[in-house]
Amino acid sequence: MKKDYYSDLGIANNASQDDIKKAFRKLAHQHHPDKQGGDEKRFKEINEAYQVLSDPQKRQQYDQYGHANHQAGAGFSWEDMARQGGNGGGVQFDFGDLGDVFGDMFGFGGSKKGARRDTRGSDLQIDIDIELKEAITGLKKELRIPKSVKCDACAGSGAEPGSKVITCPTCAGSGQVATTQRTILGVFQSAAPCSACKATGKKIEKKCKACSGDGRVRKEGKISVSVPAGIDDGQTLRLSGEGEAGSQGAPAGDLYVRIHVRSDKRFARKGDDLYSDLEVSYSQAALGDKIKFLTHDGMMEVKVPAAIQTGQLIRLSNLGLPHLQKKGRGDLYIRIVVATPKSLNRKQKELFEQLKREGL
Ligand SMILES: [Zn+2]
Ligand SMILES: [Zn+2]
Repeated sequence: MKKDYYSDLGIANNASQDDIKKAFRKLAHQHHPDKQGGDEKRFKEINEAYQVLSDPQKRQQYDQYGHANHQAGAGFSWEDMARQGGNGGGVQFDFGDLGDVFGDMFGFGGSKKGARRDTRGSDLQIDIDIELKEAITGLKKELRIPKSVKCDACAGSGAEPGSKVITCPTCAGSGQVATTQRTILGVFQSAAPCSACKATGKKIEKKCKACSGDGRVRKEGKISVSVPAGIDDGQTLRLSGEGEAGSQGAPAGDLYVRIHVRSDKRFARKGDDLYSDLEVSYSQAALGDKIKFLTHDGMMEVKVPAAIQTGQLIRLSNLGLPHLQKKGRGDLYIRIVVATPKSLNRKQKELFEQLKREGL
């Protein structure tokens, strides 16, 4: 079955943020897995749909590219996008997993969510500019960004080399402690991250001097980004694990690279098609001609048919942008502009006068 976040929440594609929130609250109540008759799978779906649609930027991307398009994409999935906004992907639901809405509803959630996310490194976002021709061919780019990286001295453990790392006595190494919460929906048993060990399950005997026990240091990170051919302005690539390092060896965050494609002097872009103007003289327009034209694939000969008018398009198929993550390319449209001569010598003037007498 084709996935669709709007139908997951039972709302229309033009639903307001208010409608989205209302639909989510209603369905989350209905399907909460800790409730009788709850349905964890359905609840996850609802939560995922909400994480994407409640964020205007993610929603816009979702509307633009749809679900299927990015499902198979290298390193990109809406499921990850949704998770990024909500939780660390844990199996057990707690109120932190629900984002802000349950926090709003029951008056807690905020601080716990913060504690849970402490250990995983933060996501980073950067913007890069590329030329249209780079969007056509795709490119590899070396980026240098200041970020937290794993401490070399302790290999990210946070423990001074030679010292021991022991099991956290508070949570017996599980990283989680059980809590009970009373809410209007009943009593919820849930797991909260252990604050004594920041959910790592480990306790450091002697802190690493180089990183003060954090397991990471600030550094300039070098990252190689592959920008796929066909990328459009405003699209974002996710580089898994290339964000800030996590503390004490916890997983790193992700790096989001937003692409800006600079506008080009000769070629305008519409989707995967390109448009470019070609000036022809009166006689070329009237009689037809073959005209050399420089494309991104090299010099091409454009056959201009007789009696062509300004604004008419000549299509050169497969000379547009490659379709992103699909086979094939868009087309190149040559827009004809019939140019009036700016000056005439005597002979040309006589010829034009003859044409005028002929009614042309
Ligand atoms: Zn260290
Ligand atoms: Zn602990």
